[in-house]
Amino acid sequence: MGLPYDKYEAVIGLEVHAQLLTESKLFCGDSAAYGGAPNTHISPVTLAHPGTLPKMNRKAVEYAIRLGLACGCGIERYNYFARKNYFYPDLPKGYQVSQHTTPICVGGHVTIRTAEGTRQVQLNRIHMEEDAGKSLHDVDEAYTSIDLNRAGVPLLEIVTEPDLHSGEEAYAYLTELRKLVRYVEVCDGNMEEGSMRCDANISIRLKGETALGTKVEVKNLNSIRNVKKAIEIEIKRLVELVESGGTVIQETRSFDAANGTTFSLRTKEEANDYRYFPDPDLTPFHLTEEFIENIRSGMPALPEEKVAQYMNGYMLPEYDARQLADEKETAAYYDAVVSAFPEGAKFHKQAANWLLGPVRSWLNEHGGNMSAFPVTPEKMVALIELVEAGKVNFSIAQQEILPEMIISADKMPMDIAVAKNLIQEGDTDTLKIWVEEVMAEMPDKVNEFRKGKKGLIGLFVGEVKKKSKGKADPKRTNDILLEYLNNK
Ligand code: ADP
Ligand code: MG
Repeated sequence: MGLPYDKYEAVIGLEVHAQLLTESKLFCGDSAAYGGAPNTHISPVTLAHPGTLPKMNRKAVEYAIRLGLACGCGIERYNYFARKNYFYPDLPKGYQVSQHTTPICVGGHVTIRTAEGTRQVQLNRIHMEEDAGKSLHDVDEAYTSIDLNRAGVPLLEIVTEPDLHSGEEAYAYLTELRKLVRYVEVCDGNMEEGSMRCDANISIRLKGETALGTKVEVKNLNSIRNVKKAIEIEIKRLVELVESGGTVIQETRSFDAANGTTFSLRTKEEANDYRYFPDPDLTPFHLTEEFIENIRSGMPALPEEKVAQYMNGYMLPEYDARQLADEKETAAYYDAVVSAFPEGAKFHKQAANWLLGPVRSWLNEHGGNMSAFPVTPEKMVALIELVEAGKVNFSIAQQEILPEMIISADKMPMDIAVAKNLIQEGDTDTLKIWVEEVMAEMPDKVNEFRKGKKGLIGLFVGEVKKKSKGKADPKRTNDILLEYLNNK
């Protein structure tokens, strides 16, 4: 018997922690780089030795504003950091410095596209905070090991309103958010390495109800796919629980990817008392209009602006435009190709075909992104020109020339085509002679064609090709043949 899922609506809010790509930590000069031998990116400040004082990283503030502007948030002018007090072995100070109660970015939205259409997911806030260290339970049998390299690394916490309603929407939201943090270059967006982490808050309610149900929070979601999976599993569990007469309790659960289940970590029977208060070691900071304007005017084009440029400026189909704009590196490469076009050339669609076809296949096979592609945009343009001038056909160029260009970065496509004897005959007069010869040799077939057996065109093209020893440009041959067959 199926469950009456239709009675219920799921409500989801996501909290995403994004590790900033600053060189140093939020409050000291220690390296903020990922990895490194354990406990090498540390100083007395990170270790919270007595007498040390924090100093705020200006770049982190800039990055927070960059993402805030990209999401259409309001930017708070007066800011300060608070201490969130709790005890944990990987938290040397005994408190986390955070903007939890006074975020630098307020409101805003992220636009998502799902099967149901396009809509804006409302954000609650984006705030800055420092990361904690890492407790490692599998290094030593008897002890927990602590690595403090990550302690103090700047994070942005991006918090949505309870405004998502399915695993699919959460998937779309995270995909879009990851694209944005990469575009504005504040975070590498790598969920597997933990530089982007997501907690999902999930509740259910009867459709039509406006009050929120009791939520559960699911942690340890290390990929966008797992967030979707965990949400779907959790919605089902909550509905089954309520349908069987149970009550949802507010708790924190963990996702077990191997078993496709969630299990309880702790219940939140009483609220934690974090004793928030403004950090007396850090002065409040005031953002000037000039500081914000400088950041605004230095913003790169966002994915949606690229899509609009490709569709309206270059007349690309929406599918191509979105594929190209999906990754910043791909969009940048495409832009470089377009600016290397010879004067007056309009190969925008052809260039898109090359990037989304053969180039992408090569990247997929070699597991890299666009920055790993060894052919320069200028050489790509030379290849496109060769095909567009009818000197080499597309499939030959793709199979024979591009792979050679990838191996030998210094070779020009024309030289490869000549060396491999791939230049095709596109000269109309030469092609006409062969076409006339073929037609004279096969009068019966020509008659059949004219009576309606149009499939014979393939045979004629093949014959011309034979006469040319494989060099006749098939497209031009086809056009000339049709002209003769239909008129003469
Ligand atoms: P907490 O203090 O427990 O972290 P917040 O109020 O800060 O809770 O909200 C954290 C996240 O949970 C936000 O994304 C918010 O939208 C979401 N959220 C809050 N209440 C609910 C609910 N009842 N159902 C689903 N999501 C919720
Ligand atoms: Mg929370």
